[in-house]
Amino acid sequence: MHDHEWLPLIPIVRGEGPWLVSADGARYFDGVSSWWVNLFGHAHPRISAAVAQQAHTLEHVILAGFTHPPAVDLAERLVELVGAPLTRVFYADSGSAAIEVALKMSFHYWRNVGLPRKQRFIVLEGAYHGETLGALSMTQVPLYRETYGALLLDPIVAPAPTGAFGVIDAGASQAAAAALGALLETHAESVAAVLLEPLVQCAAGMRMHDPAYLAQVRSLCDRYNVHLIADEIAVGFARTGTMFAHQQAGVMPDFLCVGKGLTGGYLPLSCVLTGEAVYAAFYDEYRTLKAFLHSHSYTGNPLACAAALASLDVFASEPVLARNAELGLVLDTALAALADHPHVRGIRRTGMIAAFDLVDAHGAPYAWQERRGLRVYQHALTEGALLRPLGNTVYFMPPYVASAEELRWLVAVAARGVERAVT
Ligand SMILES: *Cc1c(COP(=O)(O)O)cnc(C)c1O
Repeated sequence: MHDHEWLPLIPIVRGEGPWLVSADGARYFDGVSSWWVNLFGHAHPRISAAVAQQAHTLEHVILAGFTHPPAVDLAERLVELVGAPLTRVFYADSGSAAIEVALKMSFHYWRNVGLPRKQRFIVLEGAYHGETLGALSMTQVPLYRETYGALLLDPIVAPAPTGAFGVIDAGASQAAAAALGALLETHAESVAAVLLEPLVQCAAGMRMHDPAYLAQVRSLCDRYNVHLIADEIAVGFARTGTMFAHQQAGVMPDFLCVGKGLTGGYLPLSCVLTGEAVYAAFYDEYRTLKAFLHSHSYTGNPLACAAALASLDVFASEPVLARNAELGLVLDTALAALADHPHVRGIRRTGMIAAFDLVDAHGAPYAWQERRGLRVYQHALTEGALLRPLGNTVYFMPPYVASAEELRWLVAVAARGVERAVT
């Protein structure tokens, strides 16, 4: 069977909170927040109004030699949220572009301060950082990377800090930190930065790790004079239970990349936050080789900034974190029903990300060619839910406006999908 027979395209014409409505009037609960971008549901009145108002005021202006209030306000709001010492904001337009910016800035910083040999990056096994060539070079998911291997940079790959089936495992985190320490001991002079996804390696299959790992990575980066780049494109903006994932380890990265949920899922916008030392190493009125030349046409687009500001206003006016904490417990309770299922392993949750893995009758992962997760996807559609497993990993990343009842139903849909997938 061809994929298009398995996977009919569903034309969506409207959105209402966590629900998508198709041309034929069918409703689908967006259980994956439309690839992790949507925070407060679709067509949110407050965010939609802010974008509309901005469109009537200023839709776009060049962000070189010119500036505009939404870009300035958003930078100030982000700096306030993230906290010292990340006081500088560089805008880009997609998550991948933010990763490119952080990689280039780290490399170029070391060059500007007289350490030009620091040119390589360390990433984690299973890392996902996007799919433009630089970002794809850092991505270690073979499905995305393998075909383009000949075009890519060659990062150093450190072991992932996660346990079997992606569960949090303090021993695994400890071992991974020790392995990273050994790699830095050997390579630090040629390494610009360690790049990682704090707390949850999402595209790898929602593989979760202990915040203690991040704290250890931070101290290793300090010891070996290497930057720490936190890719919070998927996990930022309250997804993991705190506004930013790195906060759970009580550490700060040197570069923080955010995207996806930054605009509440409305428009493409990303940014890289960094500190004064990096800013100062580039600041120069005349010598352009010292300056950071990286420009995207839509950098700091006012409509996107207005959406991001409105999304931050929702955070400021509603108890989002507290509500998410309650919804997280609802997910735990619902998922507990699957704990003894012979075809389910690794039930896990960090904030508003929950997942489990499908296994065969012997408890082993299915070969990816069997595409068991796809059957869960197909089943969920028949019940009006959008779940889009990653290989054998079935996961839930709902918009924050979901109700407890909707989440219980969503997990029950997935459980019925498991029965369809394993027989
Ligand atoms: C999605 C994602 C990216 C890439 O973002 P795009 O906007 O799709 O380019 C980078 N890193 C992580 C962790 C992501 O989940």
